[in-house]
Amino acid sequence: MGKVYSILSGKGGVGKTTSAINLAAALNALGEDVLIVDANLSTPNIGLHLGAPIVPVTLNHVLDGRADVTDAIYEHDSGLKILPSSLSIRELKRINHDKLIEVAKELRKLADYILLDSSAGLGREAESAINSADEIIIITQAEMPSVADALKTSKLTEYLNKDIRGFIINRHKGIGTEMDLQNIRDMLEIPHLGTVPEDKNIQKALVLKDAIIHTHPRSIASREYRKIAQKLLGEQYLKQQEEKEKSFWQRIFGR
Ligand code: ADP
Ligand code: MG
Repeated sequence: MGKVYSILSGKGGVGKTTSAINLAAALNALGEDVLIVDANLSTPNIGLHLGAPIVPVTLNHVLDGRADVTDAIYEHDSGLKILPSSLSIRELKRINHDKLIEVAKELRKLADYILLDSSAGLGREAESAINSADEIIIITQAEMPSVADALKTSKLTEYLNKDIRGFIINRHKGIGTEMDLQNIRDMLEIPHLGTVPEDKNIQKALVLKDAIIHTHPRSIASREYRKIAQKLLGEQYLKQQEEKEKSFWQRIFGR
């Protein structure tokens, strides 16, 4: 059974889509079976970020029962699976947000890691993304208003009785107007998964319509997303790596 992570933020434009795509790409590059879902139904943009063509069947069709979920999943060149949603305003009126929880149950059978890119705020979209997930990841920037809104998302998640995997600080610039990590930790009281710096390669990747993990794998942001992805895989992944390394040396030097 796959695990569903919903990527949320209180404030808009802090890097949810960028983080969802790059964590998904990093997990995929580590050999995991990953599906990224555009669950930001009011302003979808996974398709724009990943250069997916306008596709005939989307999450919107699945949510209102017009299509089967397997017909709405596309494969990126990298092997990453994508479930896009529709950009059409007409579709927007028909969205049945509550159905997402049911669809997420299906998705757990189709990949090992399912990342839902969600919307900002505390509305119905965010609520259904929280209710559909096993764990929530909150994205924030280091400025006070962004952290204050992240706290609201964290409280809503607690209220809905869901687990929070942690928060990611994005677009970190290391300037005086930003809160320091300890203050953010004290305020949010949830685990810190990592800090992704402001990186102009992210905009370049956007122009190239691909994840920075693919376009600039050695950039500082890519390195941090990879580290966070490894953290998500947890102890088990680190143990596997150690075993692999051990057997590599054993093969070279014999027993
Ligand atoms: P959201 O999904 O939360 O609305 P996006 O992921 O779309 O946010 O990011 C908003 C803008 O910020 C985009 O133009 C994106 O390229 C840019 N961006 C995101 N993260 C970074 C970063 N670490 N460094 C530089 N630009 C970034
Ligand atoms: Mg977005």
